Amino acid sequence: MCTFAIENHKTMNTPEEYLTQHGVKPTSVRILVWKEICHRNKAFTLSDVENALTDMDRSSIFRSLRLFTEHHLLHEIDDGTGMQKYCLCRCEDNHHVNHVHFTCTECGQTYCLTDYAIPIVELPEGFISKNIEYVIKGICHKCSK
Ligand SMILES: [Zn+2]
Ligand SMILES: [Zn+2]
Ligand SMILES: [Zn+2]
Repeated sequence: MCTFAIENHKTMNTPEEYLTQHGVKPTSVRILVWKEICHRNKAFTLSDVENALTDMDRSSIFRSLRLFTEHHLLHEIDDGTGMQKYCLCRCEDNHHVNHVHFTCTECGQTYCLTDYAIPIVELPEGFISKNIEYVIKGICHKCSK
C-alpha cells in the first residue's frame, strides 16, 4: 500500500479505492503504475516509470499516465527541460492552478513544492487564465551542499 511522502488528504485510500473514486477502472496494470508513482514528490518522465517497472511495456505505462492525467490524478508539466514530465495532483480545489515547481539546473530534478502558494498575477482586461504553471530554476538543497 502506498503512503504519500508528504502530508496528503488522499493518504487513507488503497490504490483500488483511490483510482475508482477518480473514475479510473482499477486494472492490474493501472494499480501497478499507480503504486510506482504515488509516493513520488518529484516530477517524473515516462522513462522513469519504465525503468522502475521493467516487466511492463512502454505503451501500457504511457496509456496509464495519460488516463491518470485525464482524470486529474496527475499534472503534465513543462519544466523547460524539453521532456514531458508528470507529477501527482495535490490540488485541494482548483486543478488548473498547479503547485510551485523547482527545477535544479545541476541535477535536472524537478521538485514539487506543494506547501508554497503560487502568486496570483492580475491580468490585463480581456485576458483569461486557463492554467497556471510556476517553475523556479536554481540549485537544489542536495546540489548546493
Ligand atoms: Zn491538480
Ligand atoms: Zn540538484
Ligand atoms: Zn509537482
